[in-house]
Amino acid sequence: MKVKDKDFKVFIHEADILKQVARVASEINRDYEGETPVFLAVLNGSFIFAADLLREITLPCEISFVKLASYEGVNSTGKIHEMIGLNVDITNRPVIIVEDIVDTGLTMAHMLETLKKHNPKSVDICTLLLKPDKLKVDLDIRYRCLEIPNDFILGYGLDYDQLGRNTRDIYVIE
Ligand code: 5GP
Repeated sequence: MKVKDKDFKVFIHEADILKQVARVASEINRDYEGETPVFLAVLNGSFIFAADLLREITLPCEISFVKLASYEGVNSTGKIHEMIGLNVDITNRPVIIVEDIVDTGLTMAHMLETLKKHNPKSVDICTLLLKPDKLKVDLDIRYRCLEIPNDFILGYGLDYDQLGRNTRDIYVIE
């Protein structure tokens, strides 16, 4: 499949993705029994993952969506991702971040810091994908569906230059 100037091939089939999403959802259902967590899904990349995950959650729960606005900053990567759009009061609530992919982990580390200022009861990270070899920061990622190598991927919500989010399978660059 060609997206803009690059070629991609199927890497993870939809059925395999959904199996792992169901596994992680059952871990959350077990760990959060008796609680009413707030899922905070990070737009845009996690919209399909969040929809599939939530339908496997049997707990009473809420979902809200935030965005990470990226602007040039003065940290090591030159980029800072500021969380915007938090419109739910998470004070004293258990929060589960729903993210598409953790790469260096800098985005999640920054988001955790921001959320903690709102005094939630707890915060866990739930990511669809993790590139373990690229992780740069010490990050506790409690829920992960799939671990992948360092290659660039798209599909199932993830984009290449905003394109390719609408595929059922996950693709890897050739
Ligand atoms: P981190 O701060 O962990 O380095 O970056 C995480 C963000 O980088 C993700 O939310 C995603 O937007 C982007 N990203 C990292 N690797 C990939 C990839 O292979 N494909 C796509 N589409 N986005 C990626």
